[in-house]
Amino acid sequence: MGKILVIGAGGVGSVAVHKMAQLQAAGRDTFAHIVLASRTVAKCEAIAQSVKERTGVTIETHALDADDVPATVALINQVAPDLVCNLALPYQDLAIMDACLETGVHYMDTANYEPRDEAKFEYHWQWAYHDRFKEAGIMALLGSGFDPGVTSVFAAYLKKHYLDRIDTLDILDCNGGDHGQHFATNFNPEINIREVTAPARHWENGEWVETPALSHKQTFDFEGVGEKNMYLMYHEEIESLKTHIPEIQRIRFWMTFGDAYLTHLEVLQNVGMTRIDPVIYEGKEIIPLQFLKAVLPEPASLGETTKGKTNIGDIATGIAKDGSEKTYYINNICDHEAAYAETGNQAVSYTTGVPAMIGAALILDGVWSGEGVFNMEQMDPDPFMEMLNQHGLPWQVKELDGPLDF
Ligand code: NDP
Repeated sequence: MGKILVIGAGGVGSVAVHKMAQLQAAGRDTFAHIVLASRTVAKCEAIAQSVKERTGVTIETHALDADDVPATVALINQVAPDLVCNLALPYQDLAIMDACLETGVHYMDTANYEPRDEAKFEYHWQWAYHDRFKEAGIMALLGSGFDPGVTSVFAAYLKKHYLDRIDTLDILDCNGGDHGQHFATNFNPEINIREVTAPARHWENGEWVETPALSHKQTFDFEGVGEKNMYLMYHEEIESLKTHIPEIQRIRFWMTFGDAYLTHLEVLQNVGMTRIDPVIYEGKEIIPLQFLKAVLPEPASLGETTKGKTNIGDIATGIAKDGSEKTYYINNICDHEAAYAETGNQAVSYTTGVPAMIGAALILDGVWSGEGVFNMEQMDPDPFMEMLNQHGLPWQVKELDGPLDF
């Protein structure tokens, strides 16, 4: 009999709650009681209504500003959940972890903490909670989305079943979806643009190599999508994977972007609209990127028009169980229209919300457990991989002739 408190009623929160309700409707008691809280309670209520219509399950809703630790503590005490699932924004991670520590409740999220005034994607703030979570006898699971999340578990799965040693790892994130808008982002625009405009960084021979944002391009033929330009970027799972699979010599992260997206982004950057420092406008301080977010389409509104597929996966090269060098490609292909038909959200929210539900289910069922702060690749990948196949994100592994030749 699990009770979950989900915080954040955006696209990811919506998918996760729909999937949790599907399990309840199917008679499993993992998510016997689902509570959704977010800053704007009307968004929680709209999700609750959709969940009721699609699955017949009733979810409880609350208004919550999760930056306010005492308010979160009060809600946790009122609801008494077994797990708090943070699907708000990365800015709230530490405040929600503080509330979990104060109430002795397990924590999980899908994105690492970011300070509002610095686009820094680093785990050290959250890893610093390890001893306190351990002492409190509770678990924090970090990054149970797709990337990080599924991509991290993919690496752990290859290491467990295919490669004794991983030498190089490339994570390839392709969104081949077309939403028909001139410019829009597939998840929270502020978080997305901070990530894309940050300098690229990859891990090679024991050190970080930094290059200017979007300066390194390659073409790759993605199954189900076709040829796309992908760009070297920094992504947070590189930091945890190089820590937990320490023999890896090189880890890179690639993401596809269309020319129109990049042209818009360049103009917005050139005119200062992606700045995250405050400027004075009509006597009031505003952050240009936050203003830009307010005029861009809500990612949740893109679902209805988005067509095409996402294809995200890992290519790992290393020494196989038989001692020879091998390269494996493991990936999932997800269809935007099918995701929308099932949950009312497009595939980027779907590919994040489903693994959030799975990570939560594994904690609530006691399959994944621990005391302290953990990244996904530290857990046994098998039960997670099995649930991906059962709950809408089937994956495939194939052997390639060799590593990427670039
Ligand atoms: P959205 O912007 O669509 O939703 C975020 C939600 O959080 C909104 O409902 C927002 O409320 C709410 N929120 C914001 N601040 C607070 C607060 N202080 N207290 C309570 N609620 C708050 O984002 P997404 O659903 O697209 O993304 C959710 C999370 O998932 C983000 O952290 C994102 O980085 C992460 N993500 C991870 C991915 C992965 O693969 N690992 C991929 C995509 C996203 P309001 O509506 O009032 O603003």
